[in-house]
Amino acid sequence: MPFTIYDERLQDETAKQYAYRTLRRNILLLDMLPGEAVVEKDICARLKVSRTPVREALLELSRERLIDIVPQRSTQVTLLDEQLVEQGRFLREHIELAVLELACKGISIKALESLKANLAEQEKLAAAQDIIGFFMKDSEFHRQLFTAVDKDTVYDAISLYIPHFTRERMLRLQMFDAIELLHDHKHIIENMENHDFKTARLYMKRHLDRVICDQKILKEAYPTYFSSSRER
Ligand SMILES: [Zn+2]
Repeated sequence: MPFTIYDERLQDETAKQYAYRTLRRNILLLDMLPGEAVVEKDICARLKVSRTPVREALLELSRERLIDIVPQRSTQVTLLDEQLVEQGRFLREHIELAVLELACKGISIKALESLKANLAEQEKLAAAQDIIGFFMKDSEFHRQLFTAVDKDTVYDAISLYIPHFTRERMLRLQMFDAIELLHDHKHIIENMENHDFKTARLYMKRHLDRVICDQKILKEAYPTYFSSSRER
């Protein structure tokens, strides 16, 4: 079972929090693939924690619909659910366009500079084809936009509820060039700087729609990662 330890356990972190954080990250970044069986004892061995905290972490992830647990039978990473992906897009679009409107009315020079610095980093990561690096920087870009209008906790709250959208974003990045996302970000910033919300919103909408627009191609390439909507 592929499993990556991205960070060591933090000093004030319980074993359950550590297991939850690491597992969630592995699922969102597709180290643990949709439909993959989860082997508890492997996770315990890799994280050097006992079974109870791992079980508790898996239970929490099952409440977030990232893990499917069939008692006494199987535990596996959930398949991508198109309905949940779409609901994630819907939530992001509605909140993020409102955030963008605020930012277009008046963003501070400092916030604008940090967004541009992020773009420069994205450019390097895209050129190096560092998919995970770009993915993280892309997420940070959007969070910075929320922070620019004092809505960073809103971004964190949304992120918690849209893991299926996030997983499909990651999957899409494995197939499509990061350059087009980078260009969307540039157009968004450019128009925001010119206080042109009408144009900026078109770029943001298209940007957030990409996951849905390309879903057919993703499903053809990775049919086993998706749950059939008829089964729901
Ligand atoms: Zn983006």
